[in-house]
Amino acid sequence: MSGPAEGPLRGRELLGIELDILRYPDPILKKPTEPVTAFDDELAGFVEKLYASMRVHDGVGLAAPQVGVLRKVAVVEYEGKSYTLINPRVLEKRGEQEAEEGCLSFPGIYALVKRPEWVKVETQDLKGQTRVYEAEGFVARAFLHEMDHLDGHLFIDYLSPLKRGAIRKKMTKQARGTSMAEPARRPRRR
Ligand SMILES: [Zn+2]
Repeated sequence: MSGPAEGPLRGRELLGIELDILRYPDPILKKPTEPVTAFDDELAGFVEKLYASMRVHDGVGLAAPQVGVLRKVAVVEYEGKSYTLINPRVLEKRGEQEAEEGCLSFPGIYALVKRPEWVKVETQDLKGQTRVYEAEGFVARAFLHEMDHLDGHLFIDYLSPLKRGAIRKKMTKQARGTSMAEPARRPRRR
Protein backbone atom coordinates (compact mmCIF):
# COMPACT_ATOMS: atom_id res chain seq x y z
CA MET A 1 0.00 0.00 0.00
CA SER A 2 1.26 3.50 -0.69
CA GLY A 3 1.48 6.18 1.98
CA PRO A 4 -1.04 9.02 2.32
CA ALA A 5 -1.43 11.11 -0.87
CA GLU A 6 -0.14 14.25 0.80
CA GLY A 7 2.49 12.53 2.95
CA PRO A 8 6.03 13.92 2.94
CA LEU A 9 8.58 11.94 0.93
CA ARG A 10 11.16 10.52 3.24
CA GLY A 11 13.83 10.21 0.55
CA ARG A 12 15.36 6.85 1.37
CA GLU A 13 18.77 5.84 0.18
CA LEU A 14 19.04 3.01 -2.32
CA LEU A 15 20.61 -0.19 -1.00
CA GLY A 16 20.93 -1.90 -4.38
CA ILE A 17 18.71 -4.82 -3.35
CA GLU A 18 15.40 -3.19 -4.25
CA LEU A 19 13.10 -5.00 -6.63
CA ASP A 20 11.07 -3.48 -9.47
CA ILE A 21 7.41 -3.02 -8.56
CA LEU A 22 4.91 -4.24 -11.14
CA ARG A 23 2.22 -1.81 -12.17
CA TYR A 24 -1.40 -2.50 -12.95
CA PRO A 25 -2.58 -3.85 -15.42
CA ASP A 26 0.29 -6.38 -15.22
CA PRO A 27 -1.53 -9.77 -15.25
CA ILE A 28 0.71 -11.18 -12.47
CA LEU A 29 -1.12 -8.92 -9.98
CA LYS A 30 -4.32 -10.92 -10.52
CA LYS A 31 -2.77 -14.35 -9.95
CA PRO A 32 -3.15 -16.44 -6.78
CA THR A 33 -0.08 -17.23 -4.68
CA GLU A 34 1.47 -20.38 -3.18
CA PRO A 35 1.99 -20.83 0.57
CA VAL A 36 5.52 -20.59 1.94
CA THR A 37 6.84 -23.99 3.10
CA ALA A 38 10.59 -23.36 3.49
CA PHE A 39 11.56 -20.96 6.28
CA ASP A 40 15.16 -20.56 5.22
CA ASP A 41 17.80 -17.92 4.42
CA GLU A 42 16.37 -17.44 0.95
CA LEU A 43 13.02 -16.42 2.50
CA ALA A 44 14.75 -14.04 4.93
CA GLY A 45 16.66 -12.46 2.03
CA PHE A 46 13.50 -12.04 0.01
CA VAL A 47 11.67 -10.40 2.94
CA GLU A 48 14.61 -8.00 3.38
CA LYS A 49 14.31 -7.05 -0.31
CA LEU A 50 10.57 -6.50 0.08
CA TYR A 51 11.16 -4.09 2.99
CA ALA A 52 13.87 -2.25 1.03
CA SER A 53 11.65 -1.94 -2.05
CA MET A 54 8.69 -0.70 0.01
CA ARG A 55 10.81 1.89 1.83
CA VAL A 56 12.46 3.27 -1.27
CA HIS A 57 9.02 3.82 -2.82
CA ASP A 58 7.74 5.40 0.39
CA GLY A 59 5.13 2.70 0.85
CA VAL A 60 3.53 1.36 4.01
CA GLY A 61 3.06 -2.14 2.62
CA LEU A 62 4.21 -4.40 -0.19
CA ALA A 63 3.17 -7.91 -1.24
CA ALA A 64 5.28 -10.50 -3.09
CA PRO A 65 3.11 -10.56 -6.27
CA GLN A 66 3.88 -6.84 -6.70
CA VAL A 67 7.50 -7.80 -7.36
CA GLY A 68 6.49 -10.77 -9.54
CA VAL A 69 6.82 -13.48 -6.87
CA LEU A 70 3.71 -15.62 -6.37
CA ARG A 71 4.23 -16.53 -2.73
CA LYS A 72 2.19 -15.72 0.38
CA VAL A 73 4.56 -13.07 1.73
CA ALA A 74 3.90 -9.39 2.46
CA VAL A 75 5.33 -6.64 4.63
CA VAL A 76 3.72 -3.68 6.37
CA GLU A 77 5.54 -0.86 8.12
CA TYR A 78 3.85 2.01 9.88
CA GLU A 79 4.98 4.45 12.59
CA GLY A 80 8.24 2.60 13.14
CA LYS A 81 6.64 -0.85 13.52
CA SER A 82 7.30 -3.61 11.00
CA TYR A 83 5.01 -6.57 10.38
CA THR A 84 6.18 -9.52 8.28
CA LEU A 85 3.19 -11.47 7.01
CA ILE A 86 3.89 -15.04 5.86
CA ASN A 87 0.92 -17.29 5.01
CA PRO A 88 -1.36 -14.80 6.81
CA ARG A 89 -5.08 -15.32 7.39
CA VAL A 90 -7.81 -13.28 9.03
CA LEU A 91 -9.12 -14.83 12.25
CA GLU A 92 -11.62 -12.11 13.15
CA LYS A 93 -12.76 -8.74 11.87
CA ARG A 94 -14.99 -6.05 13.29
CA GLY A 95 -16.54 -2.71 12.45
CA GLU A 96 -16.13 -0.58 9.36
CA GLN A 97 -13.94 2.30 8.26
CA GLU A 98 -13.77 4.25 5.04
CA ALA A 99 -10.63 6.07 3.94
CA GLU A 100 -8.56 6.94 0.93
CA GLU A 101 -6.30 4.10 -0.15
CA GLY A 102 -3.44 3.85 -2.62
CA CYS A 103 -1.16 1.10 -3.89
CA LEU A 104 2.46 1.05 -5.10
CA SER A 105 1.23 -0.77 -8.23
CA PHE A 106 -1.05 2.22 -8.97
CA PRO A 107 1.24 5.27 -8.61
CA GLY A 108 -0.68 8.49 -8.01
CA ILE A 109 -4.10 6.80 -7.77
CA TYR A 110 -6.15 7.05 -4.58
CA ALA A 111 -9.72 5.98 -3.91
CA LEU A 112 -12.10 5.67 -0.96
CA VAL A 113 -12.32 2.05 0.18
CA LYS A 114 -14.43 0.53 2.98
CA ARG A 115 -12.62 -1.96 5.21
CA PRO A 116 -13.19 -3.50 8.63
CA GLU A 117 -12.01 -1.20 11.45
CA TRP A 118 -10.29 -3.99 13.41
CA VAL A 119 -8.71 -7.30 12.45
CA LYS A 120 -7.01 -10.21 14.14
CA VAL A 121 -4.54 -11.90 11.81
CA GLU A 122 -2.66 -15.15 12.23
CA THR A 123 0.65 -15.27 10.40
CA GLN A 124 4.02 -16.99 10.50
CA ASP A 125 7.36 -15.33 11.13
CA LEU A 126 10.67 -15.96 9.32
CA LYS A 127 11.23 -19.09 11.41
CA GLY A 128 7.75 -20.46 10.75
CA GLN A 129 6.48 -19.67 14.24
CA THR A 130 2.82 -18.69 14.47
CA ARG A 131 2.16 -15.08 15.43
CA VAL A 132 -1.11 -13.26 16.00
CA TYR A 133 -1.47 -9.53 15.36
CA GLU A 134 -4.43 -7.38 16.29
CA ALA A 135 -4.66 -4.15 14.36
CA GLU A 136 -7.10 -1.30 13.98
CA GLY A 137 -7.55 1.72 11.75
CA PHE A 138 -4.78 2.34 9.27
CA VAL A 139 -2.72 -0.76 10.12
CA ALA A 140 -5.82 -2.99 9.81
CA ARG A 141 -6.40 -1.42 6.40
CA ALA A 142 -2.79 -2.05 5.37
CA PHE A 143 -2.92 -5.71 6.51
CA LEU A 144 -6.11 -6.32 4.55
CA HIS A 145 -4.82 -4.51 1.46
CA GLU A 146 -1.63 -6.61 1.39
CA MET A 147 -3.47 -9.86 2.15
CA ASP A 148 -5.82 -9.12 -0.76
CA HIS A 149 -2.75 -8.99 -3.03
CA LEU A 150 -1.91 -12.57 -1.97
CA ASP A 151 -5.30 -13.67 -3.36
CA GLY A 152 -4.92 -11.68 -6.58
CA HIS A 153 -7.34 -9.01 -5.36
CA LEU A 154 -6.69 -5.29 -5.81
CA PHE A 155 -8.13 -2.25 -4.03
CA ILE A 156 -9.89 -1.14 -7.21
CA ASP A 157 -11.99 -4.33 -7.02
CA TYR A 158 -13.97 -2.55 -4.26
CA LEU A 159 -14.86 0.37 -6.52
CA SER A 160 -17.81 0.75 -8.87
CA PRO A 161 -17.29 -0.63 -12.41
CA LEU A 162 -17.31 2.96 -13.67
CA LYS A 163 -14.50 4.11 -11.35
CA ARG A 164 -12.55 0.90 -11.93
CA GLY A 165 -12.85 1.38 -15.70
CA ALA A 166 -11.56 4.95 -15.45
CA ILE A 167 -8.51 3.83 -13.41
CA ARG A 168 -7.81 0.94 -15.80
CA LYS A 169 -7.88 3.38 -18.72
CA LYS A 170 -5.53 5.80 -16.96
CA MET A 171 -3.07 3.06 -15.95
CA THR A 172 -3.09 1.43 -19.41
CA LYS A 173 -2.35 4.83 -20.95
CA GLN A 174 0.45 5.36 -18.41
CA ALA A 175 1.95 1.93 -19.23
CA ARG A 176 1.85 2.65 -22.95
CA GLY A 177 3.33 6.11 -22.40
CA THR A 178 6.30 4.61 -20.55
CA SER A 179 7.11 2.02 -23.21
CA MET A 180 6.81 4.59 -25.99
CA ALA A 181 8.92 7.15 -24.16
CA GLU A 182 11.81 4.79 -23.51
CA PRO A 183 13.35 4.50 -27.01
CA ALA A 184 13.34 8.30 -27.31
CA ARG A 185 15.50 8.60 -24.21
CA ARG A 186 18.23 6.39 -25.64
CA PRO A 187 21.21 8.27 -27.08
CA ARG A 188 21.16 8.39 -30.85
CA ARG A 189 23.86 6.43 -32.63
CA ARG A 190 25.00 7.53 -36.05
ZN1 LIG B 1 -1.19 -2.65 -3.12
